[in-house]
Amino acid sequence: MTPDVQIISVAVAAPLEGEFHYVPPAGMTAEACPVGARVRVPFGAGERLGIVLGRQDGSSLPLDELKPIASLLDEDALLAPADIRLGEWLARYYHAPLGEVLAQMLPVALRDGGGMDLPVPQGWVVDDAAPHAASRSRLQTALLERFRSSGGMLSDADLSGHAATLRAMRDKGWVRRIALPQGGGGVADALVPSGVSLNEEQQAACSMILSGREAFSAFLLHGITGSGKTEVYLALMDDVIARGGQVLVLVPEISLTPQLVERFSSRLPGGVVVLHSGMTDNARREAWIRSWKGQARVIIGTRSAVFTPMPRLALIVVDEEHDGSYKQQEGMRYHARDVAVVRAMQRGIPIVLGSATPSLESLFNVEQGRYRLLRLKKRAAGARLPRMEVLDVRRRPMHEGLSAPLIERMRDHLVAGGQVLLFLNRRGFAPALLCHACGGHESCRQCSAPMTVHRSRHRLVCHHCGAERPLPRHCSACGSSELDMPGQGTERLEMVIQGLFPEFPFERIDRDTTRRKGALEAKLARARAGEARILLGTQMLAKGHDFPGVTLAVVLDADRGLFSNDFRAPERLVQLIVQVAGRAGRAERPGEVLIQTHQPEHPLLQALLRGGFDACAKALMHERRLANLPPFSHLAMLRAEARDAARSLAMLERCGEWIASMPADVHVYGPVPAPLERRAGRFRHQLMLSSRRREALHLLLDRLLPAVRSWPESRGVRWSLDVDPQDMG
Ligand code: ADP
Ligand code: ZN
Ligand code: ZN
Repeated sequence: MTPDVQIISVAVAAPLEGEFHYVPPAGMTAEACPVGARVRVPFGAGERLGIVLGRQDGSSLPLDELKPIASLLDEDALLAPADIRLGEWLARYYHAPLGEVLAQMLPVALRDGGGMDLPVPQGWVVDDAAPHAASRSRLQTALLERFRSSGGMLSDADLSGHAATLRAMRDKGWVRRIALPQGGGGVADALVPSGVSLNEEQQAACSMILSGREAFSAFLLHGITGSGKTEVYLALMDDVIARGGQVLVLVPEISLTPQLVERFSSRLPGGVVVLHSGMTDNARREAWIRSWKGQARVIIGTRSAVFTPMPRLALIVVDEEHDGSYKQQEGMRYHARDVAVVRAMQRGIPIVLGSATPSLESLFNVEQGRYRLLRLKKRAAGARLPRMEVLDVRRRPMHEGLSAPLIERMRDHLVAGGQVLLFLNRRGFAPALLCHACGGHESCRQCSAPMTVHRSRHRLVCHHCGAERPLPRHCSACGSSELDMPGQGTERLEMVIQGLFPEFPFERIDRDTTRRKGALEAKLARARAGEARILLGTQMLAKGHDFPGVTLAVVLDADRGLFSNDFRAPERLVQLIVQVAGRAGRAERPGEVLIQTHQPEHPLLQALLRGGFDACAKALMHERRLANLPPFSHLAMLRAEARDAARSLAMLERCGEWIASMPADVHVYGPVPAPLERRAGRFRHQLMLSSRRREALHLLLDRLLPAVRSWPESRGVRWSLDVDPQDMG
């Protein structure tokens, strides 16, 4: 081998393990291809995206069989060594090819070969002649205030979500659009003082976290709702920003937490960037690049923001760490909280996981000494926690899912001037359309599930695959016109409640009523302002909102969570009840929480009443220990689906046999049909792997997956691996 031979190893975005070797593009040396830059390389019959991993002196292939890189897309490394290291961990832990993992870490626009140029940032400036308060619009008044507290100018990034308000203000001549002045990096380092002085608990938590800020440590900030966790994050951010660092803040769903984004960006005008799936590809590309350049000092984002490159990353915050949306449910099924912890560990920085209802996994990590526990037990603004009560509805007359005592209690609160919040995790009018004559129900033609009635739209909708058809007048099996719609969804309950309480303004918040852009924000604003007196919603309503006027919160269908075949359902139910409870009585008025159930004696509900979340967590932990379920064991789920049920089953059966033939400390359960046996026309099966030792499970998977890929049984079968599955479906 001659000394000037230059071989470049590339991680190619293809479903194959391993690095691939190329020679530099024509006329270039290997030194000109930075590690971490994107390339396009010939691969199979076509071209693929790749990331340069390094230079190589030799290859197992003869040199004249190596192809040249087709094109080099970046002059600089797009992924820093630290980012590639994180990718390597992901590839190992989730058993995915490194090239695909690195590609998934990029925003779509860059994955597709988009450039790294940034447009001149645009923004808005307030006119001197604008009034100090808009006479009618609270939103406009608030914006005017924000403009003035930030020197009269705000960038589009600061103002995301306010387009409609800005247009209205522009039409009155109050604000103008401008290209923002560049220079000095263009970013404010200036923190707006907070005006809040932390209480003792908050102060203690902050000093604890900051005392070890030069090294990795993981903190579980377990603070009841309203205890001031967000103020702790903000104080930590102040410290990091003052020292020139960057902060990554992960949140479950941006659209559900506009207040949180607002609180961060009002403290650091121009320095906060938001990243979530509702943005255009280009907007995400720009936010990503601003972070990559270090211009964005605080990144607030959902799940995939955990990969954002941050050269000066100094702190990670994961808010509502227990939330299920942190788990990716397709492709590489990563858990953003767990990835965040690994990232903090690799970078040697602190990470704070915050929640009022921590996951059992995180509580277990505290027990094991891996995380340090910080508690906030008092509500910061002095409000008391609401009183919780189980409402036994056995043998009580029910009016469309509402018991008489509940209706009475609602009336009491409404008449006394309070707000009422009802929680029902099921949208649509009714969960099924039943035939009274033959007993059949209208089911989706593609899935093994009944279709949900959406009556106002006169449609049947499948909540699994999205299929729709017109609401039939006759049973499709027997032709009878005696059709029944049993059960309640939020759409039906809206009708019922408006019929019962016509004099009180009502707001329904679920996926169906918030499709239009800005609808959710408008509804939340009406709810917060107390204009809507009765609020009804799905879990959208349970997450992170502050409704100071709510005095009664109601969980309508607790029974569903107590009887599920998913072992995590009870944990989720408790988290949900405590979160819903946290919405009530935040201000001076004490709140009340009612849980409607046919199981008032259920040990979990009893534990909740007597000892709150802590007692429930303890009880659940005990059950998991006895059943040897996570966090006391480690799971991986293999899922397979095919048009022909026999094929998905055969593939998983072979997996089961293969594993049984291996001397490993891993148990296999199944294969069994998935809880939803058929979805979108495919039959689904699953095989669960469990082990007390994580390494044993991963070693086995390392060997199993290449085998599976080579089996004839795998052809024509769509299969996937889910490490640490959250959803058993
Ligand atoms: P959490 O994130 O734990 O739900 P927040 O940080 O949103 O709690 O605080 C709840 C409310 O209490 C907010 O209105 C916040 O402004 C207020 N608050 C938090 N900390 C303090 C404090 N130290 N002094 C006064 N008010 C506070
Ligand atoms: Zn029928
Ligand atoms: Zn369907």
